[in-house]
Amino acid sequence: MVNCKKGHEFTPANTYISPDGKHRKCRICQSARLKKKYRENRKHVLNKRSEYRLKNKRALHEYQTKYIENNKEKLLILWKDYYHSNKERIQQYQKQYRKDNKERMLKMSANYKKKNPARCREYVRKRNALKRNQLGNFSCWMESYYRWQQKDTCIYCGGDISSNFHLEHMTPLAREGLHSWDNTCLSCPRCNLRKGTLTFEEFEVANNV
Ligand SMILES: [Zn+2]
Ligand SMILES: [Zn+2]
Repeated sequence: MVNCKKGHEFTPANTYISPDGKHRKCRICQSARLKKKYRENRKHVLNKRSEYRLKNKRALHEYQTKYIENNKEKLLILWKDYYHSNKERIQQYQKQYRKDNKERMLKMSANYKKKNPARCREYVRKRNALKRNQLGNFSCWMESYYRWQQKDTCIYCGGDISSNFHLEHMTPLAREGLHSWDNTCLSCPRCNLRKGTLTFEEFEVANNV
């Protein structure tokens, strides 16, 4: 078979092969699927994502641990790169968030600590472990999960992102998008840079014109 079901040719550039070598996916279709999913039913996707996360906590954790283990150096460089090229923005955002939600955050954390002492200890341990690896505590988790979910395919152009990708904010931070799992996905650097401060929907429109 030379073409996918939709008739795209399986060239090396638009073919994803699963790590076990058993599955072959067309990147053009994969990107179209992802886009359609996000466009039509973002809420539903988000619910499903968190559902999936809950159901497969262990498997995901194992996958993530393994992925980080195998890609430690690469991830470190990527994260440092990302942090340095967005340093001001990240710091500004964190500062502003803490400022805006001061009382709420204090109350929340006090409540949480009271209710979940064991969990808090676990969290501190985890965070310290991550700190030692110098990985941001969100990025490694999300990146490895997204890479799996997106089959190493850029959400916008369907390009191969296995060697280089950007963490993409669908609603940009500059437009009050959140730096959280429900506002992020992976794209190739080119699409990320081209998108700039457009939202997911605006970039779609701009691309179709
Ligand atoms: Zn296809
Ligand atoms: Zn792209």
